[in-house]
Amino acid sequence: MPDIIQLLPDNIANQIAAGEVIQRPASAVKELLENAVDAGATEINLIVNDAGKALIQVIDNGKGMSETDARMAFERHATSKIKNIEDLFKIKTMGFRGEALASIAAVAQVELKSKREEDETGVFIEIENSQVIKQEPIAMQTGTSIAMKNLFFNVPARRNFLKSNAAELRHIVDEFIRVAMSFPEIFFSFSSNGQQVFHLEKGSMKQRIVQILGNSYAAKLVPVQEQTDYMNIYGFVGKPETAKKTRGDQYFFVNNRFIKSAYLNHAVMNAFNEMIAKDSFPMYTLFIDLDPAQLDINVHPTKQEIKFEDEKIVYAFVQSAIKHALAQFSISPTLDFELDASIQSLDAVSKPFTDDKKSSASSSSLYNTFTKKHQSHFIESKSELKHWKDFYEPKEKLTDGRGSSAGSGGLAEGQSDPIQQLHTNNEQRPTTDNLLQLHNSFIVVQTNRGYYLVHQQNAHERILYERFALAVEGKPIATQQSLFPATIELNAADAVLLKELLPDMNHLGYQLEPFGNNTFVIQGTPADVSQGNEKIAIEKMLEQYKHFSSDLKYSKREKLLRSLALQQSVKVGTSLTDKEMKVLIEDLFNCAIPNSTANGKPTYLEFKKDELDKLFGR
Ligand code: ADP
Ligand code: MG
Repeated sequence: MPDIIQLLPDNIANQIAAGEVIQRPASAVKELLENAVDAGATEINLIVNDAGKALIQVIDNGKGMSETDARMAFERHATSKIKNIEDLFKIKTMGFRGEALASIAAVAQVELKSKREEDETGVFIEIENSQVIKQEPIAMQTGTSIAMKNLFFNVPARRNFLKSNAAELRHIVDEFIRVAMSFPEIFFSFSSNGQQVFHLEKGSMKQRIVQILGNSYAAKLVPVQEQTDYMNIYGFVGKPETAKKTRGDQYFFVNNRFIKSAYLNHAVMNAFNEMIAKDSFPMYTLFIDLDPAQLDINVHPTKQEIKFEDEKIVYAFVQSAIKHALAQFSISPTLDFELDASIQSLDAVSKPFTDDKKSSASSSSLYNTFTKKHQSHFIESKSELKHWKDFYEPKEKLTDGRGSSAGSGGLAEGQSDPIQQLHTNNEQRPTTDNLLQLHNSFIVVQTNRGYYLVHQQNAHERILYERFALAVEGKPIATQQSLFPATIELNAADAVLLKELLPDMNHLGYQLEPFGNNTFVIQGTPADVSQGNEKIAIEKMLEQYKHFSSDLKYSKREKLLRSLALQQSVKVGTSLTDKEMKVLIEDLFNCAIPNSTANGKPTYLEFKKDELDKLFGR
């Protein structure tokens, strides 16, 4: 037998390695922007075509590269930013792995132009499949331009994996914002298919935040600033009244690197405590600076998680810094107590952050909301209901086994197709007279065999879901015109998202018109959305939509339907009149699948009379 092991050709090895760094156009955008920042640029322009699939170009006025460096830059592990392992612990630059340009050169056609201040001419290099195919001197200004064309042209499997232009563009906008936000002293512009998306003049941090997140924050930002030997925090939080029903405007940066941290987010939410409604989210843009040695930087280049040497200190610090800031600006009159003393006595400051507290924090429902994956799809474990089993009609019977496997606590798979699931329970028509509401949450419905205990919110969710599903397919839901059309101003990422959803929203009774600058005019809403609540309804819908959006198995439309149904359903705790209950129950049992929500939660439980008789020894 011949030997079988071979070395992979360089270009294939590079392509494989590139997969880790460049997953989608947005990852390339992030790397190129960060390189421009590292090069000391004061002006950075981003140009994309076809959501980066056709072209991503970053032009900067940074320090440029020599001819040799320009060629070297595309080699794997070629970097000017670290020289030895100790350097890893004092990193001040955004990049340091020397992988980005090599990865980009492996999966796109690249044109680089670069010139240093001290050089007469610049250098132009063209690369394809990691090979330099052309090099010549050119006349240009100091700085660098890197254009990458036809991303993944040589890796069709990856190219096919890319999402719609709207979705990829949204990722790009997110990455752009994350870089632009942390460097207000740098001018940034961003255009997509020849249209300008952002034009961010140099300015203060506050100006940058308002430029990016919208004017509605202009007079509503509270500065946060605390310094210690160990770490600094600075930035802004939105006044409580700016809290939105959607979680978009929240940014944490550690040493200028955008990070996601449910833990630190919890610290901020805690600081806002009673000042905002339970289901709303305060705006924040916070920068934490600390000694790089206190961080585990050995995390994956594309990961946004970060590890602190001492998480508890960071948590307590963030929380008390925000409380302090809010108190100083007397945001809430009820908070206007003996300021400094109260801060000193805050648990977070005065007591060590014990593991006990941490675990109670992390088991709180708030924390869970942020950490549970796809939480809207979670099925409650039904184990505690086991003893009901005999007289509670198991759901599986109705959902032909495709629905939630009760008790598994896992994700509900493929519940989206109402037509195929037949309502097998028809012989059991419920009577809609004498309905009884319990705890403003449940409705007792008598049937000839026993009774149903209906969960009002889940039931309504099912009804709305089917109504909406019909509306997008056929007859649109009637719109009630707004007398005084309100406008809604979104951040750029949400604006892109909403634009994507407009045609379907239209069928669902929302008449929205783009009004430039990420603003929309609400011309009309479905009749059952009360006037004055349009904005909140739309914000909540977006928030809900984003919950679903990491879920690949649902279409855009399906996610929209589910979001709207969830968001518009009558909530538990709402007292219903006899008439409302009657309509709800009738509507429910006219549904194609009355027994569960689209997300797989049961809408009612059945209690059979003969089983009840048995329990009473009859
Ligand atoms: P890293 O940023 O981790 O060093 P990259 O592959 O992103 O690795 O870049 C390799 C090197 O190319 C950088 O270390 C830097 O010296 C040089 N470089 C990349 N982009 C630019 C730029 N826009 N201006 C000047 N030099 C650059
Ligand atoms: Mg880099």
